[in-house]
Amino acid sequence: MSKRDYYEVLGVEKDASKEEIKKAYRKLSKKYHPDINKEAGADEKFKEIKEAYEVLSDDQKKAQYDRFGHTDPNQGFGGQDFGGFGGFEDIFSTFFGGGRRRDPNAPRQGADLQYTMTISFEDAVFGKETDIQIPKEETCDTCQGTGAKPGTTPETCSHCHGTGELNVEQNTPFGRIVNRRSCPYCHGTGSLIKDKCATCGGDGAVTKNKKIHVKIPAGIDDGQQLRVAGQGEAGINGGPAGDLFIVFRVLPHELFEREGDDIYCEIPITFVQSALGDEIEVPTIHGKVKLKVPAGTQTDTKFRLRGKGVPNVRGYGTGDQHIRVKVITPTKLTEKQKHLLREFAEVSGEVLDEQENSFFDKVKRALKRD
Ligand SMILES: [Zn+2]
Ligand SMILES: [Zn+2]
Repeated sequence: MSKRDYYEVLGVEKDASKEEIKKAYRKLSKKYHPDINKEAGADEKFKEIKEAYEVLSDDQKKAQYDRFGHTDPNQGFGGQDFGGFGGFEDIFSTFFGGGRRRDPNAPRQGADLQYTMTISFEDAVFGKETDIQIPKEETCDTCQGTGAKPGTTPETCSHCHGTGELNVEQNTPFGRIVNRRSCPYCHGTGSLIKDKCATCGGDGAVTKNKKIHVKIPAGIDDGQQLRVAGQGEAGINGGPAGDLFIVFRVLPHELFEREGDDIYCEIPITFVQSALGDEIEVPTIHGKVKLKVPAGTQTDTKFRLRGKGVPNVRGYGTGDQHIRVKVITPTKLTEKQKHLLREFAEVSGEVLDEQENSFFDKVKRALKRD
C-alpha cells in the first residue's frame, strides 16, 4: 500500500507552522484514538496520524521528508547531520578547526553521534530506563584499529614519505603553482597496508549495532538533549571515542498539555455541577485527585493543583496542574428533563432580572437597541 502524504494525513498545508501541525495532530489523535473511536479502521488511521506527526514535528525528519518523501524510517540518523543544534558546531571546530595541519597518525577523538529518541508524554514526566540500539563504528578488535592483518604492520607510504600529502606542480598562464594535496596512494594516512585485516577490510573500524543503556531523566522536555560520554564513534589512531547526544522528542498527550514544568488540561462538568457545586475526580499525571467545584462555577474557571505537574529535570521541585473547567450543555434531553428545565426557567426568570450589570443585562440591552 502506498503511503499517504504526511501533510495530507494531518490536513495541513506544506508551510504549516509547528504549532499548526501540533494542533492538527491533537485534534485528529483525539478523534481517532482507539480508546475513543471504535469504528473499523480508526486504529489504522490513528497509527497513520501518529507516524505523520512523528516525522513532521521533528525538524530533522521533516527536512528529510520534504526533500525525499517517504523513506526508510530508520534512516536519517547518523553522525553527519549536526546542523542546527546549538553546540555541535562548536564541538566540531574544536576537533577539526584551527587551520593547523594535523599529523595524520596523531590520535584523534572519534566523531560525536546524534540519536533522536521519541518518547511518550508519561516517560518524559517520570523518566525511564531503556536500551537503544545504535549502529556505530567501533575499532576493529582483530587489528586494534590499524587496518593491517595481525602480525603485520602498515608501511610508511613511499609516495608521500608518511606525511599524507603530496606537492602537485601545475603550469598556469601565471606561472608555476605548487599545491599540496592529500596523498592519493595512502588516502592521506601516510601509511600503506600491504596485508589488509580480513575483519575490517583495512578500514580499522567495523559497524556494529551497539546496545546502550539510557536513563531518561524525569522531567525531560521536547527538544532537550542528553550527552552520553564516550558512546560516540570510535577514536582514530587510539584517540578517545566521541560522545553520543540523545535528542528527545516528546509525543503530545491526548488530554494534558505541558508548558515547562506545568501541565494544563480542560475538564468537562455538567451544568448542574456548575450551578450546585460538586466534588469531582480529575485525572492528573500522578493519578486521580478530588477537586471541589464551588456552587456557581462558570465555564473557563481555572483551578490549580499544586505539585501535580512535572518534576523539574534539574531537581528544582515539581510543577502544578492547571485545570480549566468547561460547562457542557446537555444535548439529549428526555421529556421529563425538558419539563423540569422549563419549570426552572419560569421560576428563575425574576432571578436573572435582578442581576444588575450582568452579562444577561448587556445582552438584553443590545437586543432592545434593534
Ligand atoms: Zn581490522
Ligand atoms: Zn601517501
